[in-house]
Amino acid sequence: MARHDIVVLGAGIVGICVALHLQKRGRAVVLLDRRGAAEETSFGNAGLIQREGVFPYGFPHDFGALLRYGLNRTIDAHYHPSALPRLAPFLWQYWHHSRPARHAEVARQYSKLIEHCVTEHEALIAESGAEAHVARGGWMKIFRTERERDRRFAEAEGWKMDFGVEHRKLDAKMLQEAEPFLAPVLAGALHWTQPIRALDPQGLALSYLKRFEALGGRFVQGNAATLQAEGEGWKLRTAQGPLEAGGAVVALGPWADVHTRALGYDLPLAVKRGYHMHYRAAGEAKLNLPVLDVERGYFMGPTRRGIRLTTGAEFALRDAIRTPVQLGRAEPIARDLFPLAERLDNEPWMGARPCTPDMLPIIGAAPKHKNLWFAFGHAHHGLTLGAVTGRLVAELVVGETPFVDPGPYSAARFGR
Ligand SMILES: Cc1cc2nc3c(=O)[nH]c(=O)nc-3n(C[C@H](O)[C@H](O)[C@H](O)COP(=O)(O)OP(=O)(O)OC[C@H]3O[C@@H](n4cnc5c(N)ncnc54)[C@H](O)[C@@H]3O)c2cc1C
Repeated sequence: MARHDIVVLGAGIVGICVALHLQKRGRAVVLLDRRGAAEETSFGNAGLIQREGVFPYGFPHDFGALLRYGLNRTIDAHYHPSALPRLAPFLWQYWHHSRPARHAEVARQYSKLIEHCVTEHEALIAESGAEAHVARGGWMKIFRTERERDRRFAEAEGWKMDFGVEHRKLDAKMLQEAEPFLAPVLAGALHWTQPIRALDPQGLALSYLKRFEALGGRFVQGNAATLQAEGEGWKLRTAQGPLEAGGAVVALGPWADVHTRALGYDLPLAVKRGYHMHYRAAGEAKLNLPVLDVERGYFMGPTRRGIRLTTGAEFALRDAIRTPVQLGRAEPIARDLFPLAERLDNEPWMGARPCTPDMLPIIGAAPKHKNLWFAFGHAHHGLTLGAVTGRLVAELVVGETPFVDPGPYSAARFGR
């Protein structure tokens, strides 16, 4: 039976980064997934490493927005009415944590992770030789009205002072010069200059995986459901035979709750699903930077495969039937803004963002078990925070002084 120091369950971007950081610290690590690496949520996200993402996406608190969302016709959010009874406890807590004062407190804790997101990825990109998978130069929020533009400009000034987030302000003319193929209907843009982006999020994750394997790490196929305590360690069945490990890290993204429940934890997790579709840019058209059409509620950016259009949050059960209505609503608006040619995928891709109601990820030692750690619940920012989480978990596992205080992210905050 193969014996390892640590098994990392889940080979999304979070699990891969955890495994790589542990292997770098001289541990014998096995990374396990039931599929290939980064084939689920980490496959098709929008690719942003969001240095500006200090305020995790909250639940709206103004009446107008609630009414719009209630009608279920917006582009940025959609819900399955049949799922609401099951989602209600989560949504209630999410609403509670999104109250302005509480949200500001959450942002202060969240920003301690976010502030390292670019530097931690840059370090892994350099040592993995993953340059070809990333682009620098940031991304832009674009505005249809001066009112929204000026409101966001003022918000950005605050984030610069409070969190060191850098930006440039573009009026309509500057934006037209920067992005000549966008229709001249915009009032300006907010350019976040620090973020970097993956041109192919799975490609970036696979580069990190290759580095992990080059350092001696093993990637195996198996089902996390076979995990069992064995003395002070763990055992599992894999396609390559039984496996034992001194410690285990759960990095199962949107499936984490299935397995933590089996271990006796009742964590309030839910998902926000999202879709993508790729398009060819028509003729000579070129989009230099990704853009979020703030008032319409969709995101569009250049990737290796074409222009990737991604959608906002769909509140539904993780495995419910796919309903890419937001994509259908966004596409004609995006086509009016930028000359998109034909769709490049047969079907929309769907992923499920693993969410907690207080918008903070769950990172750190499992409260009820020895030699078990958690690394999930990264919601809209799993790519952004993958490298930071990888380092933090590895430091906790091997007993180094953590570079970020892990206290706010502990599962113990849910007390169950
Ligand atoms: C439309 C969309 C756009 C997004 N854009 C961005 C963005 O621009 N920037 C950003 O930072 N984040 C973005 N995100 C969020 C980001 O994609 C996620 O937070 C991140 O991918 C989560 O990574 P993970 O490793 O936790 O989960 P996953 O990538 O889902 O990995 C979990 C792994 O667990 C495995 N697994 C599940 N069950 C088992 C089992 N029983 N046994 C073994 N293995 C199992 C799965 O196969 C999977 O590989 C976006 C998400 C969506 C949907």
